[in-house]
Amino acid sequence: MTIRRLLFAVSALALLGALASPPARRIARAAPPATEAAGGVEVSGLDRSVAPGDDFFRWANGGWLTITEIPADQSSWGAGEMLAELTAKRTADLIAEAAKSPGPPGSNARKVGDTYTTFMDEATIEAKGLAPLRPALDRIAAVTDAPGLARALGATLRADVDVLNATNLYTPNLFGLWVAQDLDDPSRYSPFLLQGGLGMPDRDYYLDPSPRMAQIRDRYRAHIEAFLTLAGISDAGEKAARIFDLERRIAEAHLSREDSEDVLKGNNHWARTEFPIRAPGLDWTAFFEAAGLAGEKTFVVWQPGAVTGISRLVAGVPLDTWKEYLTFRAFSRAASCLPKAFVEERFAFYGKVLSGTPKLRDRWKRAVDATSAALGEAVGRLYVERWFPPSDKARAAEMVKNEIAAFGKRIDRLDWMAPETKARAKAKLAVLKVGVGYPDRWRDYTALSVVPGDALGNAERASLFEYRRNLAKLGSPVDRGEWVMNPQLVNAVNLPAMNALNFPAAILQPPYFDPKRPAVMDYGAIGATIGHEISHSFDDQGALFDADGRLRNWWTAEDAAHFATSAAALARQYDAYRPFPDASVNGKLTLSENIADVAGLAVAFDAYRLSLGGKEAAGAGGLTGDQLFFISFAQSWRKKFREPALRQRLLIDSHAPAEYRADTVRNLDAWYEAFAVRPGQKLYLAPKERVRVW
Ligand SMILES: [Zn+2]
Repeated sequence: MTIRRLLFAVSALALLGALASPPARRIARAAPPATEAAGGVEVSGLDRSVAPGDDFFRWANGGWLTITEIPADQSSWGAGEMLAELTAKRTADLIAEAAKSPGPPGSNARKVGDTYTTFMDEATIEAKGLAPLRPALDRIAAVTDAPGLARALGATLRADVDVLNATNLYTPNLFGLWVAQDLDDPSRYSPFLLQGGLGMPDRDYYLDPSPRMAQIRDRYRAHIEAFLTLAGISDAGEKAARIFDLERRIAEAHLSREDSEDVLKGNNHWARTEFPIRAPGLDWTAFFEAAGLAGEKTFVVWQPGAVTGISRLVAGVPLDTWKEYLTFRAFSRAASCLPKAFVEERFAFYGKVLSGTPKLRDRWKRAVDATSAALGEAVGRLYVERWFPPSDKARAAEMVKNEIAAFGKRIDRLDWMAPETKARAKAKLAVLKVGVGYPDRWRDYTALSVVPGDALGNAERASLFEYRRNLAKLGSPVDRGEWVMNPQLVNAVNLPAMNALNFPAAILQPPYFDPKRPAVMDYGAIGATIGHEISHSFDDQGALFDADGRLRNWWTAEDAAHFATSAAALARQYDAYRPFPDASVNGKLTLSENIADVAGLAVAFDAYRLSLGGKEAAGAGGLTGDQLFFISFAQSWRKKFREPALRQRLLIDSHAPAEYRADTVRNLDAWYEAFAVRPGQKLYLAPKERVRVW
C-alpha cells in the first residue's frame, strides 16, 4: 500500500535542490503553432497512422512526439512542463515588476523583489566567495564532543518532508520534520520525524548491485571529492571516501520506499523519554534542544528502524567523519547561492548524471524558484491577481460540484460495497473541503526578513522561517484551510488527514482547463485530475482515514477484499508495461495512483455527461463529443523523458510514466465505443478484464 497523492511527482533533482524547492521549466524551443479544430483539440498532435486501439498515447500524441525535442535544460518535457514553463515566465515578470517598484520596506512586494534581485546578482555572490558560509563551517569545526555533534545535527532539522500531502520523503539532513494532524487524534498537530541524511535520492542508489548504480556511485564519490577540492579542503579524496561510506551505512539503516509509504507502518508514537532507550547513540536532549523541540512530549517516528540505526551510527562513527560529512552537507545545501564553480559542479552530478539533463537552467528560472520557495504565497497572491480571474474560479468550482455529484452517484451504484460503508463514504464526501485556485487566507510573512545582497542568508532565513511556522502549529488548533501547494504550482493534491483537496490556479490553464473551449475538453483533462484527487479520499488509502481524518479503517473486510482483487488485476496490467527491455513499471509501487487514474477518468466522464443532462457533447473537427473527451485526456499526458530520468522515475515515482497513464482509457467501456476498439487490438481488454474499482 502506497501513499501518493499529488498529480505529478516533484522530480528528485528538484528535491535535491535543498534550499530551493519547486521545479520550474523553460521553453527553449516553441513548438510549431498547432492546427486547432473548432472543438479546441490539437489535431496536428495526432498520429492517424496508428489505430487508437493499438496505441492510444501515440494516436493522440504522435504528431507532437515526432516534432518535439526535450529542451537541453530539461530531463523530461510534456504538457505539465510546458505549462510550468509558461507559468514560471509569468511569475518571473511579476517578480521583476515587484523588484522595479518594490513598495515600502517590510512589504511582501519588497521582500519578493529583494529575494529575486539578490539571487540574480551573481557579481556579489562571486565577490563574497565562501564568506557567507563561513559561520556555518566554523560551527561545525567547533564541535568537539557528542553533545556538540547532536546540537549541530539538531540545528539542521527543517520542515522539509511530508508523508501524506506533498509526499516528499527525501531530506539531505539527517532527519526531516513534518508537522501535521495527528493520525490518531486529528484535533491536534503532531511532529513527525523522518529518515534522511543521503545525498542521492534513495537507498537503492547506495545498495543496488547493478553496474549502472555502481557507476552512479563512482560518479557521486567523485562529485563529493570535487566539491571538497573546490572548497579548498585538504585530503579531499580520503574524506570523500569516508563521507560516502557513512552515507552508505545510513542507507543500510533506511527503510525502503514502499515501506516508508505505508501509513500503517509509519504511525508510531514515541514518547520523548523513549528515544534514548529505543534509539541509543545520539544525544537526543541536545538534538531536540537545538531543533527547538525540547518541549515536545510525543513524536511520530515514521521509520523506527532507521531512527535506531542512524542514531547508532552517530555514536559508532568517528566524530571527525561526522564533521567532514556535515561540512560537505553545508556546501551542498548552500551550492545554489555560492559562486558559479559550486553551482556547476552540483549540476554536473545532479543534473547530468542523475537526470541526464545536458544544460543547467537559466539563472532567472532558478531565481524564480528560490523566490517561490522563500515567499510562496506572497508570489502566489501576485500571480492569482494577474492570471486567475474570478470567472475561472467559478468555472472550475462548477466542475468540482459536478464531479462530486458524479462520484456520489457512483458510490450509490456500487454493487460490491456494504451499505454501511456506502453511508460512511457519502458522509465523507459531504465534508470534503475542495480548494480551488488559492487559499482563503494568505500566509503572513511579517517575521521573515530579507536582506539585499545576502543570497545565502535569505535562503537560510526562509527555510528557518518555514520551520518555525511549522513549529508554531504544535499546540495550535488544526487549520483545514491551510494549503500545501503554492497557487503558481502546476500540480494538484489530496490531503487525506485534512479531507481536503488543493487545485492551484496554475493547473487551471490550458491544456488542462480552458474557458475558451467546450467544457467536454476540460472534463477530459482537469476533470480527470479532479476525479483522481477525489477518489484518493475513498480508495484503499482513503479507507484508512475517516471523515475527520482519523486513521481508522471504515471499510468492512469484504469491501477491502473486493478492492484488493481489482487492485491486483490493475497491478498486473501495469507490470506488463516495459519502457525498457530490462525495466518495467512497478505495478505495486504505482497501484494507488493507477487506481486513482481509472477512477478519476470514470468520474470525469460521468460528470461531463451529467453537466449536459446525460447527453453526449457536440462533436467538432470530425470527432465526436466522447472522442473529444478521451483525446483531451491523452493529450494532457503527453510527455517525453530522457533515459536516466525515466529510469529514476521507475524506481522512486509512485506514478506510472505519462504514456501508461494515458492508456488508462482501456478500462472504460465508453472508450471502446467511442473509438470502435475491437478484440485483437493491442490495448483491447475483454469486458471482464477491464478494472472497475468505482
Ligand atoms: Zn494521485
